[in-house]
Amino acid sequence: MANEISLYVHLPFCRKKCPYCSFFVLPYSKESELLLLESLLLHLETLKSSIKGRELVSVYFGGGTPSILSIDFLSTLVQKIRSLPFCFEANIEWTIEANPEDVTKEWSQNIYNLGFNRVSLGVQSFVEKELHFLGRSIQKGLAQKAIDHLIEAKITNISVDIIFELMDQNKNDFLETLYSIKHLPITHLSLYNLMIEEGSSFFRKKTILEKKRPSEELCLEMLTSAVEILESFNFERYEISAFCKNGLSSKHNIGYWTGREFLGIGPSAWSFFNNKRTQCVKNLNLYKENLLKGEEPFLFTEELSPGALFKEQLGLSLRLKQGVLKSSVTHKESIDTIASLSKKGFIEEDSCSFFLSEKGKNFYDIVQMELL
Ligand code: SF4
Repeated sequence: MANEISLYVHLPFCRKKCPYCSFFVLPYSKESELLLLESLLLHLETLKSSIKGRELVSVYFGGGTPSILSIDFLSTLVQKIRSLPFCFEANIEWTIEANPEDVTKEWSQNIYNLGFNRVSLGVQSFVEKELHFLGRSIQKGLAQKAIDHLIEAKITNISVDIIFELMDQNKNDFLETLYSIKHLPITHLSLYNLMIEEGSSFFRKKTILEKKRPSEELCLEMLTSAVEILESFNFERYEISAFCKNGLSSKHNIGYWTGREFLGIGPSAWSFFNNKRTQCVKNLNLYKENLLKGEEPFLFTEELSPGALFKEQLGLSLRLKQGVLKSSVTHKESIDTIASLSKKGFIEEDSCSFFLSEKGKNFYDIVQMELL
């Protein structure tokens, strides 16, 4: 485990910015694609000495919308990653995020040929008015078609993202999205609640929008129904917001929750390496300039003390169904906090582990805040 590492590649281009999105996103052009490619190749070159012999278990191409990039771009990048002195794990997970609109028969085949074995589709909802609110494409049957193309190309590990707690959302509409999933041959689902964050265009009208959010009781009711319905479709809730079938959890995301080191390349990408958390600059030109000058392309660097790291990791690991081993909780302050959270009904235990109760899963924010 200590030798394991993951790689995240941030590909920031999108056709347009969704109103709820607070990520670093750029409009796509051929010139920017080339600039990004040159920068990423430079960045990967700088990592060579520090990754020698490290066991690469997952590679994740996220964004942005990685599926709008040319296959030549993706191919050059994949080849470069394969040429690095990692020790490549046999069942390495190669994920690429895609917009269902971009997933054609040809794209799916190309991705498969490049070695990707997992695709994460930004579906968000199956209800027209909700897709409209989220600024997403509303062609009927789009997700189903994309999934059919992927399966035909032998990519069978498919994840979809769904967002809920939308403004004016009612339970029936949310159930419509959930029941649309029943017959889809997907292996994974990530269920997010809509957050209105700085940097998104929704943020400017946050006060008005928040008033239209379903009540706390309805949000909780929708979450409870989602868990029940997804479990009835044979999904396992292996993490608070992630569900999988047949044990096909996300290897890459499991790394974030269990403290595996990861390197992030691309403007705005985060890394966690050598007890340091860093974030690359959020400017493509500056990112390349820094790399050309031989400087670290970071906007932010934080060295974490062992105590801070432990507390943060404890909170993240508790998100997983299996929780944390009791033997791993040796930090006095954390032992006391866990005892207090148990008393309040947020945490349960068996002979070996601490894990979140249903209440703890529903109010994870409280657990996380108390643990930090
Ligand atoms: S939500 Fe996804 S597709 Fe929409 S702008 Fe953000 S990164 Fe792009």
